[in-house]
Amino acid sequence: RLSGVEMAPPDPILGVSEAFKRSSDPNKLNLGVGAYRTEELQPLVLDVVKKAEAKMLAAGYNKEYLPIEGLDSFRKATVDLLLGADHPAIKQDRVVCIQALSGTGALRVGAAFIGKFMPGTKVFISNPTWGNHMNIFGDERVEWAKYRYFDPETVGLDFAGMTADLEAAPDGSVVLLHGCAHNPTGVDPTPEQWKAIAELCKRKGHLPFFDVAYQGFATGDLDKDAFAPRLFVDSGLEVVVAQSYSKNLGLYGERVGALNLVLADAESAKRVLSQLKRIARALWSNPPTHGARIAAEVVGDPAMFEEWKGEMAGMAGRIAKVRGELRAALEARCPEKDWSFVTKQIGMFSYTGMSPKQVDNMTNKHAVFMTRDGRISLAGLSSAKVAALADGIVDSVRN
Ligand code: PMP
Repeated sequence: RLSGVEMAPPDPILGVSEAFKRSSDPNKLNLGVGAYRTEELQPLVLDVVKKAEAKMLAAGYNKEYLPIEGLDSFRKATVDLLLGADHPAIKQDRVVCIQALSGTGALRVGAAFIGKFMPGTKVFISNPTWGNHMNIFGDERVEWAKYRYFDPETVGLDFAGMTADLEAAPDGSVVLLHGCAHNPTGVDPTPEQWKAIAELCKRKGHLPFFDVAYQGFATGDLDKDAFAPRLFVDSGLEVVVAQSYSKNLGLYGERVGALNLVLADAESAKRVLSQLKRIARALWSNPPTHGARIAAEVVGDPAMFEEWKGEMAGMAGRIAKVRGELRAALEARCPEKDWSFVTKQIGMFSYTGMSPKQVDNMTNKHAVFMTRDGRISLAGLSSAKVAALADGIVDSVRN
């Protein structure tokens, strides 16, 4: 019966890692997946995570199921990080949070909720965006369309195009926004532009759905990186937020995240949480314990929390450093071109504007593995590899 199943296309991001593994080139460089590497290009387990794990081991936790909605201390920590612990919406009991299988699982629960309770509502997604957004909403059979976002001419935000498309969207649509460090472009709206987008959402009755995968990782400051979702909440909108601890705590494989909704009142918050639990029950029944305990320990302990902030700033700082070095190396090799975008873009990625053909040259001739949209993960670059990468980029864009 199953012999007719067709081959699925390789994932555009994770397929790059598979190709990297297969390559025997000794100088190969993987700039595909967005995962932090040390200067030695090794994965990093944060010291604070090791400390939390040691504490957990000593406490001798059992392996019982968590409640469907997840670990209470984790949920509290997550909402406090997102809004700030003293936020009035928390005191008013109108914030709900359900632990999820990292950012992806949180987005998926959100998509299922939209499909179930807002039938016929279209989700507007930035062009371009993280490729999995389309899979997530598509697999939930939630209709989606793209809004303009990136302007290749300025290598910046197409704010006029974005607002025109959101204006033209049917009233009451869902607008998917990247909380900070837009993936793949590294281009975010300015505070004034965020204000205008919030106003637009309010006027049109749009529901903002933030994907927050890089809080604290973009600028090294948790509060600065939560500016946009907080602004939207403070302007009186109902807001949905998918959060991930993959990058900021380096818990990629532990699958730690949450879906938050800030609602108009405590009564609707109770009803919404009951429905989110109903959705999660059929997806994974109850979420995994280990990573949630780590996050709760770190956020809940003032000394560990400070240490985490230091380590996060260290990761953000290393990325900023290689950005500077890469820009300088490109300017030295190819001064006729404007390379300022490399340091203007924030977060893990740089969107180089390279065509698929140029990307193929990067991979086939220079053993630089990257996605075909021209995105490179600077989290996977070391200072030692900057010169070789710059050589490859200049060779690829000149030919
Ligand atoms: N959203 C965006 C924009 C991302 O870049 C990522 C990670 N690459 C995620 C969500 C989710 O990742 P995870 O499921 O590991 O939390």
